[in-house]
Amino acid sequence: MIVMKFGGTSVESASAIERVASIVRERAERRPVVVVSAMGKTTNKLLAIANAAISGSRASYIAQIHDLRDFHSREARLVVPLADRAELDRTLDDHFQELTELVKGLAVLGELTPRSIDAISSYGERLSSYIVSLAFAHFGMKAVHVDSRRLIVTDRRHTQAAPLYDETYARLAATIPPLAKDRIVVLGGFIGATENGVTTTLGRGGSDFTASIVGAGIRAEEIQIWTDVDGMLTCDPTILVGGHRVKIISFAEAAELAYFGAKVLHPATVIPAVEKNIPVLILNSRRPAVEGTRIVADPVRTANTVKSIACKRKITVVNIHSTRMLMAHGFLKRIFDVFERFETPVDMVATSEVSVSLTIDNSQRLAEICAELRQFSEVSIEESQAIVCLVGENIRYTPGVAARVFRSLESVNIRMISQGASLLNLSFVVAEADLKRAVEALHREFFAQLDPGVFDRNGAADAAA
Ligand code: ASP
Ligand code: MG
Repeated sequence: MIVMKFGGTSVESASAIERVASIVRERAERRPVVVVSAMGKTTNKLLAIANAAISGSRASYIAQIHDLRDFHSREARLVVPLADRAELDRTLDDHFQELTELVKGLAVLGELTPRSIDAISSYGERLSSYIVSLAFAHFGMKAVHVDSRRLIVTDRRHTQAAPLYDETYARLAATIPPLAKDRIVVLGGFIGATENGVTTTLGRGGSDFTASIVGAGIRAEEIQIWTDVDGMLTCDPTILVGGHRVKIISFAEAAELAYFGAKVLHPATVIPAVEKNIPVLILNSRRPAVEGTRIVADPVRTANTVKSIACKRKITVVNIHSTRMLMAHGFLKRIFDVFERFETPVDMVATSEVSVSLTIDNSQRLAEICAELRQFSEVSIEESQAIVCLVGENIRYTPGVAARVFRSLESVNIRMISQGASLLNLSFVVAEADLKRAVEALHREFFAQLDPGVFDRNGAADAAA
């Protein structure tokens, strides 16, 4: 068995679903279990509907629900066999009826709880997985739809639920292999339910996580994440085009890249896969012939010190100076307690004798945080910063990496530096305005020479250079 996960853009329309069907059909003998995201931007649209409801714009949420239904119905009818159209219509009616009731309820209450957010956002994957399973029949495959909420058992942390692994794996192992013997199992990603059957979600982008959980639960040979890029690249394509494809990368490197903003993969994805030692492949559903990126358990030997450069924009640096001459003991604890209280994760930290600089990526509660910090320290804020992160298992063994970084960034002001915490990354903070220039310089420095066993050279980039 293999798990094949298709993201929102891979199932955004009838023609996209047709592409998915042909990719799956070609791999039918490997007994694929298919996990899909909501179609296109459906999750965002559902959340917009929920927000319209609580802000009292009845006409607006009703219209948005209609649009969403029309969209699903229009695309689905193109890929559902004639014989199944009546059932399709009935199912869409039921789902949208239920959704409308739910949204009306919210409008009355005027309050959106995490639990109701989950109930509403679950419709995207419930619909997409059902539609894709019918579409497979249209394209000549035997498929069976399973509601993920029966299999993925989670805790009650709505909108960010964590799976209860023992129970989830037990249910997956009992349910999926028998079905997958002669049918293609289709599941929605992202959604689950508590032990009491209340709908939960695994957090935005959570379908990759579902794929990985399912893969681990059924001991799949491989987990394939089908997306709209050729795999992991040596740099973020939204900052610098012309990165090279990384053909093979370790779990640790991939996780590091994901944490630092590479949009290709949800960071949590790799955890269940690592534990069961199941390789994860990143593949492009628009270019299925490209071999993609293979994520494997062990570090890959290569002459290239750095595997990829990841970036995170819209970072805020908070500088905190002790108002005493030297830091009193307990100073760091007091600082972190404040961030803890306002549920704001801290990404990077640098300390000196009298001050601490740290970065946050969610600045929603910054004003409250600063007010508290100012009770015992002086605080200054720098907005519009970016973290640049060089990732590679070899960084720790290679002398002179920092020197090469600083030499190539001579003309860029580096605000903060951190190496060592994870051993396989070197990260630093620059102003967002300097980001592109910094990434260009580093990419030139570290990827002029490429190990052909590990990288696929981007020919277009060479031609342009
Ligand atoms: N549909 C969900 C989201 O947009 C989950 C996913 O696509 O992975 O966040
Ligand atoms: Mg998505």
